[in-house]
Amino acid sequence: MSFIVAIDGPAGTGKGTVTKILAKKFKLINVDTGAMYRCVALEMLNKGIKIEELDKIKEMLENITIDLKEENGVQTVFLNGENVTKDIRSKEVSEIVSPVSSIREVRLKMVALQRKMAEGKDIIMEGRDIGTYVFPTADVKIYLDADLEERARRRFQQNKEKGINMSYVEVLENIKKRDENDKSKELGALKVAHDAEVIDSTSKSINQVVREISEIIRKKKKDYKLQGKIYKIRKENAWKKFVRKVVKVFLSALYHIAYRVKITGKVPEQGAYILCCNHINYLDAAAIVLFNKRKVNFVAKEDLFTHGILFWLGHLFDAIPIKRDMQDIEAMKRCLKVLKNGELLGIFPEGTRKGMEKNMKAKNGAAFMAIKAGVKVIPVGIHGTFKPFSKVYINYGEPIDLSVYKNQKDKLDEATEIVMNQIKELVEKE
Ligand code: C5P
Repeated sequence: MSFIVAIDGPAGTGKGTVTKILAKKFKLINVDTGAMYRCVALEMLNKGIKIEELDKIKEMLENITIDLKEENGVQTVFLNGENVTKDIRSKEVSEIVSPVSSIREVRLKMVALQRKMAEGKDIIMEGRDIGTYVFPTADVKIYLDADLEERARRRFQQNKEKGINMSYVEVLENIKKRDENDKSKELGALKVAHDAEVIDSTSKSINQVVREISEIIRKKKKDYKLQGKIYKIRKENAWKKFVRKVVKVFLSALYHIAYRVKITGKVPEQGAYILCCNHINYLDAAAIVLFNKRKVNFVAKEDLFTHGILFWLGHLFDAIPIKRDMQDIEAMKRCLKVLKNGELLGIFPEGTRKGMEKNMKAKNGAAFMAIKAGVKVIPVGIHGTFKPFSKVYINYGEPIDLSVYKNQKDKLDEATEIVMNQIKELVEKE
């Protein structure tokens, strides 16, 4: 799996410098996509090809080779084997690069090359459309911005250091024109990705910007590490079974001291079922898991797994972490596997605590999986105040067969309602 950082934004925001530093810091391959479009523009100038000569452009694109290499710590650009690092920054190239990069065929070719460069690698890619078009699912997306005059001043200074002869006014005009053109491109226009972090670098030093982005990258990496831990499947073995048994005896004894648990109805001793239960308290899932002879694999929101003891208990009891507010295909697959193995799956269709009381619409996931896996749903009604030494009632209902809804995706709401109505009845039962 590759890790991709996309840095987008207009010219002169410091993208290049910041990207170089971050590439080194996080050991990422640095890809300057602007340099690639500049190579195409330079090749057109070299060959005397005009913007409107599409056939010649297509032919040129078929034979072009562009390589970005790191030589003695310096980003070096090769066009058809020749070092053009300095030439691509010339005034002539800067003047035509934006319209050149608007040509559909040029974009498609460059985007294909960029995606290939990233295959299986950890990269940081800077440009205009990286987070929106080239890698819409990039791990980190940054949009760097700054005031026009400040950007022109920076680029003018950079040019001076590189020996490129352009006045401040020329640079300003060039950037302004490129901005306008870049923002109105038919394909790969410069815009802020909806999930990008926008950083305005106008009054910030390079170090400040690097620090901010580093923090975002570090946080993302940390999240991934945690996710890896949460989602890791701990295999069943004799030791795990033994520890689970001991913990179950111990915790159910504690539970009995704290509450008087009254159970009505029962769960069949064999076979796959989905236990659909109302959710009033964090301790209601524990009641179902602890006072069941069989193992109940409960679906739980992933943030519960970030707490030490809950993380450990979650893995011990094979709870299934689920990402809320999105379709979590991975969690769905794990649930279906549990059912396929003939085990019990526990779900709170309300999706959150006291959803029924708040009149929230129940989620269709349980009904969907019951129909897909061809298993019955056991409605469960829990009630109690969960005050110390009070009674907690767990009422199991009769299994509900939802197979009549097979191949009727549009009737999932109806199937869910049948389950929820049964749960409501069971909640009211003493
Ligand atoms: O980043 P730089 O200023 O060198 O980019 C030169 C030009 O290449 C930009 O003005 C833009 O028109 C084009 N470009 C693009 N898409 C990218 C990178 C650069 O269209 N991803």
